[in-house]
Amino acid sequence: MGDLIDRFPNPVCLTHEAATLARALGIDAPREAEEPISPLADLLIEKMGGKAERSLFFHPDAAAEWLFRKYPDYFLPVLRHTPMTRPYGTVMPSVTPVCFATMYSGALPEKHGIREYAKPILKIDTLFDRMLERGMRVANVASRGCSMAMIFADRKMDAYVTEDDGDSFRTALSLLEEDRYDHISVYFGEYDATMHARGTESEEALAKLEEHFRHFDVLAGKARALWAGKRHLIMVGTDHGVHDLADGRGAHGTDLTADLNILHFYGAYKN
Ligand SMILES: [Zn+2]
Repeated sequence: MGDLIDRFPNPVCLTHEAATLARALGIDAPREAEEPISPLADLLIEKMGGKAERSLFFHPDAAAEWLFRKYPDYFLPVLRHTPMTRPYGTVMPSVTPVCFATMYSGALPEKHGIREYAKPILKIDTLFDRMLERGMRVANVASRGCSMAMIFADRKMDAYVTEDDGDSFRTALSLLEEDRYDHISVYFGEYDATMHARGTESEEALAKLEEHFRHFDVLAGKARALWAGKRHLIMVGTDHGVHDLADGRGAHGTDLTADLNILHFYGAYKN
């Protein structure tokens, strides 16, 4: 990784994504969200021929921008379904609950209230709240105890709390097949867990990254086949990047660009 740590920090903050996604989904922006990236929202709507009727957000934890640069082949399944790429700078501290709270609220941590590695119920208005207010049928799939399962646990959507990423994959696949939801969010956390223990580029961690995107390929392929004829939006959005510690374990949470620079990916389809 080395020299990549000193790369130019991405200038556009992740706070601008929520309102952008809201516009593409045809829902109101979360109340405290920073302004949308209008050209991106317009592009997504142009590609779909209107606002999305269905959406899938896939969240692989800790898939740093530099991993895309160094291991682009792992990301080919991502490019297959979500070829439009957008760099963001995530927020500080660059830890999972803080970053997902920003991703879904469009607000900085001082405004949304989660400012450290803790997983309280998120109090601020979010994309999930705006979807529910619009009457959308919403599912959130995430493993037990993880941030995505914990901070939205009070929302009146269908929460599928799973045992692990494999269970999340099978659950999300069956939900897609049942076609009962307008929106599904799916979180995978095992690259993050493995890189913390073994290092960001360990064989074990990279195998998890590869598996995450292989499973995404199946989910997105299924969504696109089942949603043929409907306008749909697919997003791949990680929460933060990663760096290695001197002892060989992986970490994040700092303001190193390796931790802050992330890429999100979008696919917007008419049919
Ligand atoms: Zn994370």
